[in-house]
Amino acid sequence: MATYLDHAATTPLRPEALEAVTAILTGPAGNPSGGHALARRARKAVDEARDVVAEHLGCQPREVVFTSGGTEADDLAVAGVAAARSGAVVCSAVEHHAVLSAVEALGGRTVAVGPDGRIDLDELARTLDDAGEVALVSVMLANNEVGAIQPLEAVAAVVRERAPGAVLHTDAVQAAAWLDVAAAARPADLISVSAHKLGGPQGVGALVVREGVAIRARVLGGGQERERRSGTHNVAGIVGLAAALSATAAQRDETAASVGALRDRLTDGLVAAIPGCRESGARATKLPGTCSLLLECVESESLLVLLDRAGICATAASSCASGALEPSHVLAAMGVDRALAAGSLRLSLGWCSTAADVDHALAVIPGLVAELRARSVPLVLR
Ligand code: PLP
Repeated sequence: MATYLDHAATTPLRPEALEAVTAILTGPAGNPSGGHALARRARKAVDEARDVVAEHLGCQPREVVFTSGGTEADDLAVAGVAAARSGAVVCSAVEHHAVLSAVEALGGRTVAVGPDGRIDLDELARTLDDAGEVALVSVMLANNEVGAIQPLEAVAAVVRERAPGAVLHTDAVQAAAWLDVAAAARPADLISVSAHKLGGPQGVGALVVREGVAIRARVLGGGQERERRSGTHNVAGIVGLAAALSATAAQRDETAASVGALRDRLTDGLVAAIPGCRESGARATKLPGTCSLLLECVESESLLVLLDRAGICATAASSCASGALEPSHVLAAMGVDRALAAGSLRLSLGWCSTAADVDHALAVIPGLVAELRARSVPLVLR
């Protein structure tokens, strides 16, 4: 069995989600938009799931828009608000490409972060002052590459002061596996989540759109989701998302503590065992599951091949890209130089990670790094 250290890319289905999904997929078919008994049954499953999702995200059920995942939720948030009103769009420089690409397509602005990956609040204030009318500000709750948790309350305070009419969106796709989104994302008008990052199925997510926020649908058709996102509901996915959110919430504190301790042992062990290896970002403001490392004189791509052969699933930059490893925009924004960023390694733990996963990684990775470095001479470690 492989040692899975890529939970931030996708984490295994939780048993509670599997059970919920299976009950729908093996039960009678019914389109929730229809009028007969089986359609009503499907509708009831979606409505019940919506109540659960709303409770965990801290909103009203009618404020939940189900989507095909985090990318679509982010796209609807950014492009949907930009289409519904005038003004600039602004985001942090470390957003996931789902937000960044949408903001770039609209000619928007990005705001710098510090070496810890957290947004520079003074720079945010200056950007908002310069931007004139602002339609939307998007700042993620936690980053996918280094795990940096953003100070959303403080971000909201700056936005409310400098751009009072702007809509605040937060991408909580990574954060939702670890933080209480209802509390942490309370100041946001729009919140994106994705089921497969917290033990639900792939291909389903949600965008919270608070009452009164003007948004134009991106997917047109039958007018589902109160005209905000057309398309037949992914009933199994939606109930899986609700079940995964409930299971995550029920075990949150326990999981965060145990996984955080595993992550600390993994990070400290690798930093101690590998010369020229350091942690990126600041531990105190990271999600508990993220171990992000910078390795001098190492090409991530070659290391990942060796890790894969050794049965360790890991990644370097965001794995949502096409498979090509380009220098990480997140590390660049944090001021990491290009050569060092080329040796980034993300090991991410999740709800089912074990001490054995960490033991295996600690036993294998230092030797593989040494092997890789021995192949590329001369070596000058700083
Ligand atoms: N936002 C963040 C922060 C992510 O980490 C990801 C996926 O890695 C996404 C958005 C996209 O989510 P999905 O894979 O559900 O489209």
